[in-house]
Amino acid sequence: MNPLSPSETRRLLESLGHRPKKQLGQNFLIDGNIVRKSLELAKVQKGDVVLEIGPGLGTLTHALLQAGAKVYAVEKDPTLGEYIGETEKNFAGQLTLTKGDALDYPLGEIPESVSSYKIVANLPYAISTPWMAAVLERRLPSVMTLMLQKEAAQRYCAKHGSKQFGSISIFIQAAFNVLPGHDVSGSCFYPKPDVGSTLLHLKAKPTPYIFSSDARELIREIFQQRRKQISSLLRQSKRPLSEIWLNTLEKIGIENNARPEQVTLDQWITLAKPSS
Ligand code: SAM
Repeated sequence: MNPLSPSETRRLLESLGHRPKKQLGQNFLIDGNIVRKSLELAKVQKGDVVLEIGPGLGTLTHALLQAGAKVYAVEKDPTLGEYIGETEKNFAGQLTLTKGDALDYPLGEIPESVSSYKIVANLPYAISTPWMAAVLERRLPSVMTLMLQKEAAQRYCAKHGSKQFGSISIFIQAAFNVLPGHDVSGSCFYPKPDVGSTLLHLKAKPTPYIFSSDARELIREIFQQRRKQISSLLRQSKRPLSEIWLNTLEKIGIENNARPEQVTLDQWITLAKPSS
């Protein structure tokens, strides 16, 4: 069954004896156009390997399977995991479900031998940023089409100079081109979420840049005090790269009194490259 209306979704939830859990971000998709649009943006084709976080009642999962994708999914909710387990039996070999937390299994159980994969997901909003950070430390997908909380989507595509520009904007945009998002109405979900939603599409850059863990930690630390000048933040930091970066600022055109959000993506990458 592929529920695509509030009444069908309610009936299915009742038959499972399940009430949507707010803390797990259980706002199920009930709009066929959004499902189609997600697959279209990701250009899902037969044989593609696709990761889905939080299959829930399987609306997106079924569409992916019907398109011929090989789906790896991670579901934390035990009841929904059981339900999706039935789908796993019907699509033998095409769906691999991991019953667990996406923060423990950021790429599900995609085998090491798979070099190219896509991510299509209506994410549980509470974990989107830590999960995304974990993905960026692993094998990168070629594309990601993600339903996100609007504010998170704004941070992922924010440019320097804006309030939303922060460490996650830098880490994502160093590796992916982020296309302008599509706002999605609350009526496309059951139950309606309390926050706005955006469908965002990200495409891996030809040569993605991945920050080292030292660089990531320093950038995160710097943005925790985003109102301060970057030179004083680097001077006060005890992190291994802080002194090198302090001595590099001027050489790469960053004013000592610049604030972290004024430093461009390219300048962050130049700072972090070991040769600088
Ligand atoms: N994909 C379904 C859809 O579009 O209708 C459901 C999406 S719903 C927004 C988020 C799903 O993620 C729920 O099924 C929820 O149980 C699951 N979930 C929440 N937190 C999770 C986590 N940490 N790891 C894996 N799944 C999680």
